[in-house]
Formats: sequence, structure tokens, C-alpha cells
Amino acid sequence: MSQQIQSVGPVCEITNPFEMVQQRIDAICERIGTCEVCYLRLRECERELTVHFPVKMDEGRIKVFTGYRVQHNDTRGPAKGGIRYHPDVTLDETKALAAWMTLKAAVVNIPYGGAKGSVACNPKVLSQGELERLTRRYATEIMLVIGPERDIPAPDVGTNPQVMAWIMDTYSMNVGYSVLGVVTGKPIALGGSKGRLEATGRGCMITAKLCAKHLGMNLDGATVAVQGFGNVGAVSAVLLAKEGCKIIAVSDTKGGIYNPKGLDVEDVLSHKKVTGSVIDFKDSEALTHAELLELECDILVPAALEDEICAPNAASVKARMIVEGANGPTTPEADRILCDNGKFVIPDILANAGGVVVSYFEWVQGLQSFFWSEDEVNRQLQNVMDNAFHEVLEVSQREKIDMRNAAYMLAIKRIEEAMMARGIFP
Ligand code: NAD
Repeated sequence: MSQQIQSVGPVCEITNPFEMVQQRIDAICERIGTCEVCYLRLRECERELTVHFPVKMDEGRIKVFTGYRVQHNDTRGPAKGGIRYHPDVTLDETKALAAWMTLKAAVVNIPYGGAKGSVACNPKVLSQGELERLTRRYATEIMLVIGPERDIPAPDVGTNPQVMAWIMDTYSMNVGYSVLGVVTGKPIALGGSKGRLEATGRGCMITAKLCAKHLGMNLDGATVAVQGFGNVGAVSAVLLAKEGCKIIAVSDTKGGIYNPKGLDVEDVLSHKKVTGSVIDFKDSEALTHAELLELECDILVPAALEDEICAPNAASVKARMIVEGANGPTTPEADRILCDNGKFVIPDILANAGGVVVSYFEWVQGLQSFFWSEDEVNRQLQNVMDNAFHEVLEVSQREKIDMRNAAYMLAIKRIEEAMMARGIFP
């Protein structure tokens, strides 16, 4: 199989995440002959807002934080994308994440464009009060561009349903009435959707299952390593374990743990809840970040941050299947190496799309004021992911390209069709 598949992405190692996306868009648009207007629009972001804002810290001092909200493209519907709180965020990273959201929504064919927001901060060292004040001020700063029909934030790294509740409340207080639809990933008590918290990990599990069927891999007893034991990684691990997989390694920022006989994932979760990390879990050996990625296993789920699988370590990846829970975990050069080595990569814009799909369900339920059961949410998610996986696989087989390029191709064609139908204003 690996011999027939081509990778059409860039050849050299690029380090700027947005340039990375642009180069792949260039390559795909050239290959499929995308019209120039569509191509030129897709390689830029429509709006980029940078905000610098003061927050009163607990000890009384004022600190100025920098944040961003970027809307990449809203041709197919309101812009949609998470908010990341992390010390290393940059405008270019936020632009890349926004562009991936546009492509992701198009791959799974939901009527959204793409956006992303971020604040350069370390939420782990902020008190609850500081986090709330930072969130409320950031929400006020980006109110210029967000709204239930324009741009709808959701959780990402470092944010959670509570942060979404503060954004919803701040927006509502500013406009003078309650606007539930301004964010998704809200607490259930505030119009959140059942199944949203688990949706991204559930999407990873669903695509891994479909992929295993395609590859003739038996999931029962298949070994799995998960990098990043946060929302996406932990849920993926729990759900893959329920499918019979043996989760042999997991990690977080502090390090990794390994047990070739399989870790009890629920116990690891409880251990993390108490100690703040997966490290020092009983019945496990310590593992470095590098060792986890290169572990002998059937499935690797990178679910932490960007660029973790890169040129220096890609050739050492032994997993047959890579399920990209994280956004952008594989650099373009690493992608080529994985493809040449016959690895099957389920790309981020497909594998982790479960989150935006259930965000869409949350928004739809909110607009209708009619909420679905968790079974209904999961059933609809299964349908969307199933269709998207098979559509991408069909393009991949027809065009003899890897799944990432196939997903980009499918997405760009859908966005182009919508752009052509809308035309250019004025
Ligand atoms: P999170 O903050 O809940 O978890 C991230 C985890 O990764 C944490 O456990 C952290 O300790 C760990 N981590 C960070 N750097 C690491 C490293 N180098 N090695 C090992 N572990 C490391 O965030 P999340 O919401 O789970 O998001 C993870 C990834 O999934 C991000 O790329 C995010 O953009 C993507 N994603 C999230 C969602 C969602 O719904 N939350 C949806 C789609 C994609």
C-alpha cells in the first residue's frame, strides 16, 4: 500500500505553523486546479485581532496579557474554533489553528467556517479568581468579533466548560440578555450538549475503529500509546480500552508511564486527579516523551501539541496507525517519512473533528431549545464521522494520496464550491 500512496505536501521542514498550512494549501490547490480567488483567500486569514489587556492579580498588581482571535474563513457558515490558554501561543500558531478549523468543518461537512483564539498565559499558576478576571476581560476584548451568528468559541488546551460559562455570561451582560449560543462546550446546566466533553476523544476512537477495519487490524488486544493525557488523550484512551485495546503507555507534560500488560486507564485518571500527573502511577515504569512516540505498539495517539512527530523521530515511529488527536502533531517532513514507511495516519482535521461536530450539535440544540439524549448525540456523531472517514478514504484511494492530503482535497473542493456560489462582494 505504501508504494502506491504519494504525499504531495512540502518537502522541507518548515517551523512556522501557519506557513506549514499555507504550503499544504498551495500544494493541494495546485494539484486540483483550485480557482485563483479561492486559493488566494484560503492561504490568508480573513480577520486577525490582537488584544493586550490588563488583569488585576490576587496580590493587587496589574498584569498585561496578550491574546488573539483569528477568523480564517467564514464562507460556509459562522467561524468556529476553540480558545487556548498556554504560555507559548503566538499569532501564527493561532492562525494555523484557525485554518485547520475551516478545513475540519468542511471535511465533516458541517456549516461552519474556522476560527481560533488564544491567550498567552499559564492557567496552571493562576488562581480561580485570576482565571475568571482574565477570561471576562479577554471575552470583552474579543466581543468585537464573536457572536452566535458570527464566531463561536469553544474549549481547547488550558480552557474548559467553566471558562466557556464565564465567556457566555460576560457576553450576555454586555448585550443585556442571555446569549447561550455564543460559545459551545458549556456546562450542561447552561445549555451544553451531553457528550460534548467526550466528543473529540470519541471521534478519535470512532476513526481508529473504522481505520482498523480498513487495515484488517483486530482492535481486541491492539496496543496503544497516548501522548497527552488531557481531555482528548484521556477520553481516547478510555474509549479505546472499552473497544478491547490495551493502553500500554500514556504521558503528560511531566513524563510518561508504561506497562506492556496494559494500564488500567480509569485508575490512571484517578491518580492524575489526586497527584496532578500520570507519573509515578503504580504498576508502571517511567517513560520519556521521546520513548513514548517510538514505542512498539499498534496505534499511536498524539493528543498534546503541535510538531511532536518531526523529521528527527518520524522514522522511529513503530505504530502502524497514527490517530491525530492533537492539531498539527506531525510536521510536513515527518508526514512524508511516515507515508514512505507505510504508516496509516488519520489526520487531525478528520481524527479530532468529533469536538466541532458535537459543538455544532450543541449550537443546533440551543437554537431549537430542544436537547437530545446522550445516545442520540453519540449516534449522530458516529454517522458524521463514519461518512467523513469513508469520503476521505475514497479520495485517498482514487487519487493515490495519503489521508491528510485527501482530507485537504475534499475540504478545499467543498469550500471552493461554496465560494463560487457566493461570488465576490460587492
Ligand atoms: P488539555 O489541556 O486537556 O490536554 C493536553 C495534555 O497534553 C495535558 O495532559 C498536557 O499535560 C499534555 N502535554 C502537553 N505537552 C505534552 C508533551 N510534550 N508530551 C506529553 N504530554 C503533553 O488539551 P486538550 O483539549 O486535550 O487538547 C489536546 C490537543 O487536542 C490540542 O492539540 C488541541 O488543539 C486538540 N483538540 C482539542 C479539542 C477539544 O475538544 N478539546 C478538539 C480538537 C482538537
